[in-house]
Amino acid sequence: MQWYTGNVLYDTFLIVGFIYAALVLVSSFFGTAQYGGRFGGRGKGLKLGSKLGWVVMEFPGLLVFPLVYMTGRNALEPVPLFFLCIWMIHYSNRALITPLLMRVQPGTQSSFALNVVIAGWFTISLHGYFNAAYISELGDQYTISWFSDPRFIVGLIIYWVGFSLNIYSDTILRNLRSLQPTPNEPRYKIPYGGLFRWVSCPQYFGEILSFVGFAVMTWNLGAVFVLAMTAANLIPRARYTHKWFHKNFEDYPAERKAIIPFIL
Ligand code: NDP
Repeated sequence: MQWYTGNVLYDTFLIVGFIYAALVLVSSFFGTAQYGGRFGGRGKGLKLGSKLGWVVMEFPGLLVFPLVYMTGRNALEPVPLFFLCIWMIHYSNRALITPLLMRVQPGTQSSFALNVVIAGWFTISLHGYFNAAYISELGDQYTISWFSDPRFIVGLIIYWVGFSLNIYSDTILRNLRSLQPTPNEPRYKIPYGGLFRWVSCPQYFGEILSFVGFAVMTWNLGAVFVLAMTAANLIPRARYTHKWFHKNFEDYPAERKAIIPFIL
């Protein structure tokens, strides 16, 4: 498969995107991105709370993909439409459902710094542009027979497993807090159940798996870029979280790995 599409703008952005992903990976060895609960709250300047921070940061995922997608000549074809649906479901969960269901401990510091939100916009806009432009315009493999291609079928199964694991694990974490958390209850507890039996961050493992599945089922380098960015972000974040659990809970289960069962 040739890697370039022949569209100079797209191919140039893609190269820049992969260099950016490599830089994110290198920088993540020096500290995880400062958003969300236990890793947020540091740094100066304007900050948003967890719920609003997630919605504002992830919202381009719901805008850029459909806007670019609509301009493509294959926008009304069944296979691209199927990928549009998957994308919108995924980002509706990430940008709206998960943040709105989140249970925030009262008195928690605002944790999304503006520079983190802006970096998030840049990354998520690139995700949307690369995938929408390829799926609805530049890719020529998405005829109706793609639905019976082994790459589509295997990728869809991996996607479904990953997405389900992510949602299930997020639900376990959410239920560690009461519906209306009070300042007196402990903010963090040890999660049990599901893949928490073997790893500290199955929610991140599920997220990465879902993008492995998306890359396989769409068979495009834009999706590999999303996967690279997600893995560069979440694998180090899982390792920081794993160490954080060991530091904060003496009775933390010793057999758990950080993110990939029995391996990492
Ligand atoms: P966490 O999974 O660390 O936290 C999610 C929620 O659960 C927060 O409300 C958090 O509270 C709470 N929580 C976490 N651990 C505990 C615990 N031990 N006890 C009680 N409550 C707990 O979240 P992230 O913010 O890193 O990720 C949220 C989702 O977004 C995940 O599904 C992740 O996969 C996805 N994500 C995707 C990325 C990508 O690149 N595609 C990047 C980052 C995240 P509090 O806020 O107080 O810590």
